[in-house]
Amino acid sequence: MKVVESLHEVKAWRRELSREASLGLVPTMGALHEGHLSLARAARRECDAVAMSIFVNPTQFGAGEDLDSYPRDREGDTREARGAGVDLLWFGFREELYPPGFATQVSVPALGRSLCGRSRPHHFGGVALIVLKLFHIFRPRRAYFGLKDYQQFVLLRRMVIDLDLDLDLEVVPGAIVREASGLALSSRNLRLSDAGRAAAAVLRRGLLAGRDSYEEGERHGARLVIAATRPILAEPRVSLEYLDLVDPWTLKAVAEVAPGRGAVLAVAARVEGVRLIDNIALGAAAEGPA
Ligand code: AMP
Repeated sequence: MKVVESLHEVKAWRRELSREASLGLVPTMGALHEGHLSLARAARRECDAVAMSIFVNPTQFGAGEDLDSYPRDREGDTREARGAGVDLLWFGFREELYPPGFATQVSVPALGRSLCGRSRPHHFGGVALIVLKLFHIFRPRRAYFGLKDYQQFVLLRRMVIDLDLDLDLEVVPGAIVREASGLALSSRNLRLSDAGRAAAAVLRRGLLAGRDSYEEGERHGARLVIAATRPILAEPRVSLEYLDLVDPWTLKAVAEVAPGRGAVLAVAARVEGVRLIDNIALGAAAEGPA
């Protein structure tokens, strides 16, 4: 595995790949865990070459968010990426990606304002911007994103279609990887105490309660939301930010789940000051976003 920092080195490596070789890209912010590594392994299986980027992207963090305290572990990441079969590991740095005078923005407002966009209004603009830059830098054939960040996945897939990047590039979803307790893996889980981690597992139980209600025949949006919210509200260590039922593609609130369309229950909450997200697909949406 080659480890590089400068864009110059990435471009040189990219040029050396044969024209027919398919490149799989796994963009991350590091502090790698099984969620990231499952994406890298899928890329390894499906592509000729695998690149992973590690960059804690400042434009997707708002003022007062956890940009400075976001976990960083260069040595561990290098070891884990090598073990997952990554060919090129790139640690990006801010000065090169956002040099003085940088002025461009990218936005997908219709998909970036709901759910997490309500409390993080600039987040998805920052995500779209960095990912579009990565697509130009790496020119991957397949780019892998986890469904834990469901809104991110939907928004990026839309951006790729809208900008006609889909002619050469597929945005590939990866299933959510969880702890045995059901808690979705996240680099931010490192900042939870044992008690916080145990409490955070209630997010998954809430989503499962919502799904149970759906499977018992409930289709009314507000009642599905109540079923999923009830267990979460009973956990005092968890402070709920939102729990919404949304359309799998428009991310708009669903009043009544339509047959053949399904819906996604998505949640964000804070535990010990750490912001966590999770989601579950219902009905047709559970068959996968492909
Ligand atoms: P991050 O480093 O948090 O920006 O995540 C990088 C990529 O890994 C994103 O596509 C995430 O959706 C994905 N990812 C993070 N956690 C998980 C997880 N628990 N399961 C699956 N994918 C994940």
